[in-house]
Amino acid sequence: MSDDRPPRVLPSPSGPSAELHAHWANGELRLQRCRACSTWQHPPRYRCAACGSTDYEWALSAGRGRVFSWTITHRPVDPSFEVPYAVVVVELDEGPRLVGNLDGIDNGDLALDLPVVVALERVSDTIGLVSFRPA
Ligand code: ZN
Repeated sequence: MSDDRPPRVLPSPSGPSAELHAHWANGELRLQRCRACSTWQHPPRYRCAACGSTDYEWALSAGRGRVFSWTITHRPVDPSFEVPYAVVVVELDEGPRLVGNLDGIDNGDLALDLPVVVALERVSDTIGLVSFRPA
């Protein structure tokens, strides 16, 4: 990032999303998993989207998945972003899909089902963000 760019805009999570970001800020890729039906879910919710239970845990993901979809941005929505950059939807091995930047690869080499690993970035005491690298 060059020095003349404004600081990055960060999320202001509340409820289950705040819990999620606290785990990620601590370097653990934890996601909700329903204790009633064992379904993983993301984004976090107060109830299981599969069975409606409110009994969930923050289960540790292995942090591996495959590219489900992507876009390459050439015009930033915020001047803090350096273009071009790739935003990918990754389907984790556990099932949930996460959205983040993909680094460490030429954008022309992006492909569906590309194996990737999650990288967590602690951006504050309460906010952790995900990005991805080729596996
Ligand atoms: Zn459930």
